[in-house]
Amino acid sequence: MSIFACPVCGARLEKREKVWLCPNGHSYDVASEGYVYLLPPNKKHSASPGDDREMVASRRRFLESGAYRRFSDALNGLALRYLPRSGPAVLDAGCGEGYYTGRLAAFLAENGRSPQICGFDISKCAVKAAAKRYRSIPFAVGSMFGIPVLPASADLVTDVFAPIVPGELARVAKPGGILILAVPGERHLYGLKEILYDQPYENERKDTEYPGFTFLDRVPVRGKLETDDPRLIRDLFAMTPYAWKTPWEGRERLKALHSLRTELAFDFLVYRRK
Ligand SMILES: [Zn+2]
Repeated sequence: MSIFACPVCGARLEKREKVWLCPNGHSYDVASEGYVYLLPPNKKHSASPGDDREMVASRRRFLESGAYRRFSDALNGLALRYLPRSGPAVLDAGCGEGYYTGRLAAFLAENGRSPQICGFDISKCAVKAAAKRYRSIPFAVGSMFGIPVLPASADLVTDVFAPIVPGELARVAKPGGILILAVPGERHLYGLKEILYDQPYENERKDTEYPGFTFLDRVPVRGKLETDDPRLIRDLFAMTPYAWKTPWEGRERLKALHSLRTELAFDFLVYRRK
């Protein structure tokens, strides 16, 4: 059974062939790529919020190079460890083009678990790409500020580098359910920042306390990226927040760059919903 909820009345949505229906007669078409649009018009801040097509293509090329595979593997391991045994519903909040969602679903299935996994993202381009690639996973266009799933419905919620809206995450997680946040570690992409900025800075260490959740664990995972592929470097840059805020000189230095050595650092924060 799906955990998607009607963005108008909040009731459970059920999938019928080419449409998702709620008991109150609201219906949402399944797009040809297989996803559903669950963003109410008043929650839309621009014509097409989130990553655009080029950014999604960059993100997919970069992730499929395997550069972040160890982080996806670490997430999968944590999910398997904490996921309840029976009938679990898994939500990938801010799923992007589905790299982590798809690998998590495959990994859990290989380990004898068959959760109902679904994902949503604000970017229609990203969700389109996710739905096209991972046909068996339901994906929706939706907002982190009004997550399109039922209250207390998810046994596991994952959020990898997506915005964190604690109240919404608490609303959708089941009591006793697990939340896994992936946040950048202090020196994540430091080598890239040394090229972009005259005065590179370390990331702030994120707070670990959120209302409604008990903090269980912080799992730092560290890696390195060493590449001589200029396209991979540009793809990496395009999927970071620096793509918006890098000064002109930094962009020029990046353009001229043919190799990159940098630290990679993810911190996984694990919580249990009270
Ligand atoms: Zn409805």
